[in-house]
Amino acid sequence: MTSLEWVDQELENLKNEGRYVPIRILETSQGAHVKIEGKEVLNMCSNNYLGLANNPEVKKAVVEAIDEYGIGAGAVRSIAGTMEIHMKLEEKVASFKHMESALVYQGGLLANLGTIPVLVSKEDVIFSEELNHASIIDGMRLSSAKRYVYDHMSVENLEKNLKEHRKEGKRSLIVTDGVFSMDGDIAPVKEIQELKDKYDTMFYVDDAHGEGVLGKNGRGIVDHFGLQGKVEIEMGTFSKALGSMGGFVAGSQKLIDLLKQRARPFLFSSALNPGDTAGVLKSIEIMERDDSLVKKLWENANFLQKGFRDAGFRLTSTKTPITPVVIGDEKKTLELSNYLYKNEGVFASPIVFPTVAKGVARIRVMPSAVHSKDDLKRTLEAFENGAKALKIM
Ligand SMILES: *Cc1c(COP(=O)(O)O)cnc(C)c1O
Repeated sequence: MTSLEWVDQELENLKNEGRYVPIRILETSQGAHVKIEGKEVLNMCSNNYLGLANNPEVKKAVVEAIDEYGIGAGAVRSIAGTMEIHMKLEEKVASFKHMESALVYQGGLLANLGTIPVLVSKEDVIFSEELNHASIIDGMRLSSAKRYVYDHMSVENLEKNLKEHRKEGKRSLIVTDGVFSMDGDIAPVKEIQELKDKYDTMFYVDDAHGEGVLGKNGRGIVDHFGLQGKVEIEMGTFSKALGSMGGFVAGSQKLIDLLKQRARPFLFSSALNPGDTAGVLKSIEIMERDDSLVKKLWENANFLQKGFRDAGFRLTSTKTPITPVVIGDEKKTLELSNYLYKNEGVFASPIVFPTVAKGVARIRVMPSAVHSKDDLKRTLEAFENGAKALKIM
């Protein structure tokens, strides 16, 4: 008997329920083609939308920054970890997002965990979209604010909740993902923004899947809706389209000043590494300079989604490059994903309950700017072969 015997039981349960996720190990850099277990596979499941994770110009900037600043920041930012390169990145993020100021965190998850509890606390209320990302949910928990969940994509249900519960809190916050990662649909940010003033509440949008994808040169969801200067708090990540790691919150100078005094990942966790910081700075410079990567991403996404629809596959009502192919049955979905990987060398991740509701299991296909037309055709063929072999269609 050991005190950790329950761990065996937990693992056993996960395996029995078909919820134990094997972790595949990449033996090459992130990109359209990767090597796993010695085998080359077509990678259709990364968030590396623009291919910036392995872009030569970005890599060069990282190496140069390491030569200049070393590999680590050496301290939390409030003590001795803030380097001029962090300040440069914050200025760049703010101008890219058309915001007054920005604060860089070590990750998107930490940006949500750090910021939300500064905005609201236990005498306040939060109105949270049903499908919000786990890091928003954890940020809300840390805040201790009272939480009301409104229906996915429903402005009406949000307003109903605001009417009934807004007065229960001193301060109030509406929080939503901009792009929903499991369906690829886009939050009705414009309509939510209109409710904001009517109900005297703050509004926070998480643009993790919008950066590099939506808006002019990939500026994100706020730009997409033409709401520059109107949405007060925008959060995002550097780990998806921007190809590196880190996260940020952009807003007014005063909000950023306060976050620097209060946000716990800023105060109690060491600063983003200088190399990563420089990489992100370069990625944004590339995006500002030319929009060809964003254009290529959309061209690929449109081609792929049309191909799936023409072949008779059912997609979600996606409005972004996120391409969820709905199979329905959980077991069939896992089988198809396995088939694609083993027989076709196509790596695409199955998404099943509890990540999505029962009966709408899917394979989420993620095209990027670095996929070729041939890669996309191969993906479509692989799905058709798999669907036939497994009698899915
Ligand atoms: C990926 C993601 C995050 C977390 O970002 P990281 O930088 O990877 O920690 C936060 N919110 C949403 C909506 C995401 O999709």
